[in-house]
Amino acid sequence: MARMEVVRGDITQLAVDAIVNAANNSLLGGGGVDGAIHRAAGKELLRACEKLHGCATGSAKATSGFDLPAKWIFHAVGPVWSGGSHGEADLLAGCYRRCMELAGEHNAKSIAFPAISTGIYRFPLQQAAEIAVHTVRQHLQSSDVDRVIFCCFDDATVEVYQKIV
Ligand code: ADP
Repeated sequence: MARMEVVRGDITQLAVDAIVNAANNSLLGGGGVDGAIHRAAGKELLRACEKLHGCATGSAKATSGFDLPAKWIFHAVGPVWSGGSHGEADLLAGCYRRCMELAGEHNAKSIAFPAISTGIYRFPLQQAAEIAVHTVRQHLQSSDVDRVIFCCFDDATVEVYQKIV
């Protein structure tokens, strides 16, 4: 079984095969981790994203990592939280599932996730972290991925993940 670890830091700095972006439907950049990834990866990333013609909520699409240490970026579109009865949990799980599939398709053995939807999209952190860890753990049973990092940007997020992983 692959290792899952919780790391505090900036996901753009991680030297893993793939990092996951918390993108929006346009895939053309935004605030939060999305903005940080576009700044660090360089302008080529935007050109690559333009060719993807957006992405549905609950899914993800891959690009090269360009100037990042990571080889790949999986751009996942998490749900905006609107009370919890609009399929938010399933859509969030879909992001993690699709990213683990993309890891297989791109032969990525190490992958780092931010806490998708828990920033600007306001998904409750505890529930989001449970979905993240549960969905990844399920997928690891039939996966070649051997290292999964939950990259947390602040102490509160680290604490929540550490209790679950
Ligand atoms: P969303 O719109 O999906 O909520 P955000 O980027 O607003 O996406 O937030 C998702 C999570 O990513 C939040 O926990 C936020 O603190 C975190 N985050 C922001 N910048 C970075 C970064 N450079 N590396 C890792 N996580 C980050």
